[in-house]
Amino acid sequence: MKASFAIWLARADKEKVFEEISHPENVEKMSYLLKPSSSPKATLNSTDNSPKATLISTATSMSTKSPKSSYISKPVGLRNIGQTCYVNAILQAMVCAYDIWSGILPNDLSNSHFLKYLVTMLNLMRFRSDKVDPKYIVARLGSFISKARGKTFVPNQANDVPEVLGHILDDILTCCPSIRNVFTTSYRIEMTCDTCGTSSCSEDIITILSVPIRKTVNLSIQQFFRTSSLEGENQKFCVACGENQVATSEVQLVKPPQILIVQLLRFTQVGMGSYIKNTMKVTCDSDISLIEKIVEPHTKHNYKLISVIDHSGTHSNGHYTCFVQDRASKQWFWCNDSVVEKTNISLCMNPYLLFYRFEQLEVL
Ligand SMILES: [Zn+2]
Repeated sequence: MKASFAIWLARADKEKVFEEISHPENVEKMSYLLKPSSSPKATLNSTDNSPKATLISTATSMSTKSPKSSYISKPVGLRNIGQTCYVNAILQAMVCAYDIWSGILPNDLSNSHFLKYLVTMLNLMRFRSDKVDPKYIVARLGSFISKARGKTFVPNQANDVPEVLGHILDDILTCCPSIRNVFTTSYRIEMTCDTCGTSSCSEDIITILSVPIRKTVNLSIQQFFRTSSLEGENQKFCVACGENQVATSEVQLVKPPQILIVQLLRFTQVGMGSYIKNTMKVTCDSDISLIEKIVEPHTKHNYKLISVIDHSGTHSNGHYTCFVQDRASKQWFWCNDSVVEKTNISLCMNPYLLFYRFEQLEVL
C-alpha cells in the first residue's frame, strides 16, 4: 500500500492525487499514510527546522531525491469558494505552525472525522506547488462547528477566525490530549482584598491568548499580564470582610506553550450582532517574551513570530489573509486566497491573530 502510494505520488499528475486523496471515501485511509512520522514534543529550545512527514520519507525511499527536495517552501494558494478567506487563512497558519497538529497519532484520528480531513489537507498543502481547492474541508467545517457550538454554523459566510480556530484546537485536545502542552497556556489570577489582605486564586487554561490592543504585540501581552486595581463598579466581594472591596488583581503565567497564539481584541460588541473594530496599527514584534514567576521563577521564555492572520475591512464586510514565514529561508509570504507572493512582515497592516514559536529559555 505504501509503496504503490509513493510511486503514485512521484508522478507528475498531482491533481489526480489530490482529487483522490481529498475525496470523502478516500480520506480515512489516505490520512493515515499522510501522517507525519515524528511527533514533535513540547521540548524546550527546539532547533528543528525541517518538517518531517511519512509522505517525504516514503516518497523519497523510491527515488534518489533528498528529503527536502520534496518539500515546497513557498505556501500553496487556496481557492476562495465563496467567503471562505477565513478558512484559507486558518489553514495557511496551521501549515506554518505544524507543531500544533503534527503530533496527532493515527489512532487519534479515529475519534474525529473532521480531524482526518484537516490533517490530510494540511499535509497535502505542504507538498503541492499549485493552488488547492478547500471544498471538502469547508463542507465538513459546517457540521463540525455546528455540533461544537450547538447552533447552526454556515461556512460560506463571514466567520470569525478565533472562534473557528478555537473549536479546531479544542477538537485536537479532545482527540489527542497528550499534545496539550504544544499550544495551551496556563495562567493564574490572584485577587487580594486591599482592606484585609485576603487572597484568592483561580487558574485558567487557554488555547488562544486574547489581549487588549496596544501599539506593539509585546505591550499588548504585558497589558494582559499586569497588576491592576479593581475599584468602583469593578470591586470584588471579599469573603473575610463580607462585602465588596477595592481589590488588586494580578495575572501570572503558570505554563507557557510551545506555540503561542495571540489574538488582538479588535472587536467590541455594541449591540445585537453589531461590532465596532479598533483599527489601531499594531507592530508585529518578531520577538516576544513571557516572564514566568511561579513554576520556574526568574526565567524568560523567548518566542519568534512565524505567522500572522490579518483582517482588513469591517466586522461584517472584512477579508482575511495570512502572512507565513518559511522556517528554513526565513522568507515571509503573503497568502491572499489563491495568490501567494513574497513579502515583508512589516507590510502586515491589520494583525489579528499572531502565531509565535518557542525559541529559548533565558535565565534572568
Ligand atoms: Zn477583605
